[in-house]
Amino acid sequence: MIRLYYDFHIHSCLSPCGDDDMTVNNIAGMAKIKGLDIIALTDHNSLRNCPSFFKACERLNIIPIAGTELTTSEEIHMVCLFESLLDGYNFSVELDNYRSKIKNRPEIFGNQYILNDIDEIVGTEQYLLPNATSLSLEAAYNLVISHNGVCFPAHADKESNGIISILGIFPDKPEFNCIELSKRVNPKDFLDKNPVLKSKIILQNSDAHSLNDISEAENYIELDIPERSGSGEKRKGLFGYLKGKL
Ligand SMILES: [Zn+2]
Ligand SMILES: [Zn+2]
Repeated sequence: MIRLYYDFHIHSCLSPCGDDDMTVNNIAGMAKIKGLDIIALTDHNSLRNCPSFFKACERLNIIPIAGTELTTSEEIHMVCLFESLLDGYNFSVELDNYRSKIKNRPEIFGNQYILNDIDEIVGTEQYLLPNATSLSLEAAYNLVISHNGVCFPAHADKESNGIISILGIFPDKPEFNCIELSKRVNPKDFLDKNPVLKSKIILQNSDAHSLNDISEAENYIELDIPERSGSGEKRKGLFGYLKGKL
C-alpha cells in the first residue's frame, strides 16, 4: 500500500486567469516544497504546457499528469486527466476542433503563455482559452474515455461552472466515478446533503491560479501496489483507481 499526496487541478500561465509566475518550474518547485507526490497541469481547454511541465516535474522527482479543465457547451467545468503525455497530446489535437475562436485580449483577460522547460516564453495562445467548447458533457466525456483518460466534474459544489448548479441535479449519465469538491467544503457535509454521490471517489484539489494556492500535503490517495513501485506503476495504479478498476 502506498500513499500519494496529490493536486490534480493546477493552472499555469497558459490560462489567462493564472498568474504569469505560474511557470512549469515554479509549479513543480512549489509542489516539491509542499510535499506533493503527484500533480496534474489542467489549463483551460489546452494541454500546451504539459510537455514542459513533465520535464520540470521529472527533474524534481514528482509524478506529472497531463490534463486540462474543459468547458463543455453547457458551461460545466470538467477536469480531464490522461495516462500519458501522448494520450494528452492526441486529445488536445482533437479538442482544438471544438474550441471557440474568439481572440484573447490579454490586457483584459490575462496572458496565455506557452513555455519551454526552462520557463522561457516560446509562444502565445491567441484564442481565449476558457470559453465554452462545442462539446456537450456527454460528448466531452466520450472523447476523454476514447483517449484513455479520466474526467470528473470540477468544483461540483460551486455555483459558477459547477455541474449541479448548471444542471439542477447530478446526472446519472455520463457515469462519473469521481467528483471534485472545492477546498471550501467539508466532503462529509456535502455528501450528507447529496447522498446520491456517496459512491463516488471524492477529490479535493487546489484549482490554483497562484503559487501559494497549490495544495499542501493534505489530500492523498492510497493505492494497493508495492512500496517500491516506480512512477510508471504509480501512474498506472492511479488511473486504475480513478477508473474504478482497483
Ligand atoms: Zn473551473
Ligand atoms: Zn480551474
